[in-house]
Amino acid sequence: MKADISKIKPRFFNTATRQVDEFIPLVKGKAGMYCCGPTVYSYAHIGNLRTYIFEDVLKRTLQGLGYEVKHVMNITDVGHLQSDGDEGDDKMSVAARREQKSPWDIARFYENAFFDSTKKLMIKRPDVVSRATEHIPEMINLVSSLLEKGFAYEAQGNIYFDVAKFPRYGDFARLKLDDNKEARVDEDKNKRNQADFVLWFSQSKYPNQIMKWDSPFGVGFPGWHIECSAMAMKYLGERVDIHCGGVDHIPVHHTNEIAQSECSLGHKWVNYWIHGEFLNVDDSKMSKSKGGVLTIDRLIEDGFHPLAYRYLILTSHYRSGLNFNYEILGNAQNAYKALYDKVQELRKIAAAGGDDKPADETAMLRYSTEFWNALADDLKTSAAVQVAWCVARDETLSAADRLTLLTEFDTVFGLKLSDEPEALAADEQALLDERAAARAAKNWGESDRLRDELLTKYGVQIKDTADGVSWTRVLPKVG
Ligand code: AMP
Ligand code: ZN
Repeated sequence: MKADISKIKPRFFNTATRQVDEFIPLVKGKAGMYCCGPTVYSYAHIGNLRTYIFEDVLKRTLQGLGYEVKHVMNITDVGHLQSDGDEGDDKMSVAARREQKSPWDIARFYENAFFDSTKKLMIKRPDVVSRATEHIPEMINLVSSLLEKGFAYEAQGNIYFDVAKFPRYGDFARLKLDDNKEARVDEDKNKRNQADFVLWFSQSKYPNQIMKWDSPFGVGFPGWHIECSAMAMKYLGERVDIHCGGVDHIPVHHTNEIAQSECSLGHKWVNYWIHGEFLNVDDSKMSKSKGGVLTIDRLIEDGFHPLAYRYLILTSHYRSGLNFNYEILGNAQNAYKALYDKVQELRKIAAAGGDDKPADETAMLRYSTEFWNALADDLKTSAAVQVAWCVARDETLSAADRLTLLTEFDTVFGLKLSDEPEALAADEQALLDERAAARAAKNWGESDRLRDELLTKYGVQIKDTADGVSWTRVLPKVG
């Protein structure tokens, strides 16, 4: 029996108030959620993907607690410069030169790669995915309204936001504008205040910009920050429940989004700002622009299941930094495999008519309540995973009850725990056929290599019996 979710009040750490606030939606039973999407100039790395897993868990938790969630995510396919501020060339142009392709082709290629990675990680596709390049008119309108209201100014062809007109500018990130380096972007002589930021570039320092549009302010392209404000307003309205991103967005991107949105609207814009901490690799900050990053496909090549990575992320708290290495991923994979195996065993028992233990509604209610309370308490996912392990190991409960609970928990975990194992995919079958051919040719080395590859890369374990080859999945199918 599922917990009485009407009694569970979710609460989250709100960057705006620096405290854990009870979530009170704008409209009862609904939650609007805007998440800053990827800049599609390169593959998403596992750090970026940690943030998208956290947002997915937040969304699934709210859904599990009965909210109807509208999840909007943008695709930044223009305007994000090499710095998060106004310095450097557009990342799309840099990638286009690097790969000798058009920025449009770069954008589509990496957008598809992004969704391929998120699918492998069981991250649900947002309800609205909005490309910046398809919302230029909305951005132009927003810039025009800021100009009309006196919050923006034109200088040498660019339109700047004037932070002096928004005295609360530094409050969100607790910035002291005089001495904080992060707020001090480049030494642009056109700026009235060094923290001012560009809303529209007509005079880029990089004249070869291919992506540009006509506008009342001249031919050019939008700044990165205005993109998110314009798209969030279009799809979620003038007031938004939740806005998410990684912690790196607090001092520049989200600070700027708040300034321009609240000045244009004339009122508070977002009620809850929820930020995920960074994932570092071997204690060093991973960044797409510096190269040397780990992708989900790289983890797969190295013999790890993408959902073992998701399991690892679930066992840490989204507000704690996480230092990644292959040892902790290996431990997570072992734990995940054991949990998956246990649930599959329960599934088989339940499918075969069950055991002789009676149903225990009281115990189920207790476990379910513990689980949803852990998540409602600022997304304590590791505590939720612990509850799942207690259920899996509770021999006093029937297989059917345990399976029901773990299936319920998996609506948030997204670990394919109780799914019936899928048939072999074409690439898996091809490896199996290759192995049969190697065995027929008595090429035992190759046959062993293929057996190992099927196991480590695909989680398919094969057994040679007198009747031929049989296979089982020790981990679910990837993707
Ligand atoms: P980007 O594609 O660079 O705009 O970043 C996409 C998302 O990943 C944003 O929400 C960032 O805040 C987040 N992010 C970037 N680097 C990391 C990291 N190392 N760990 C966790 N999140 C990150
Ligand atoms: Zn954004």
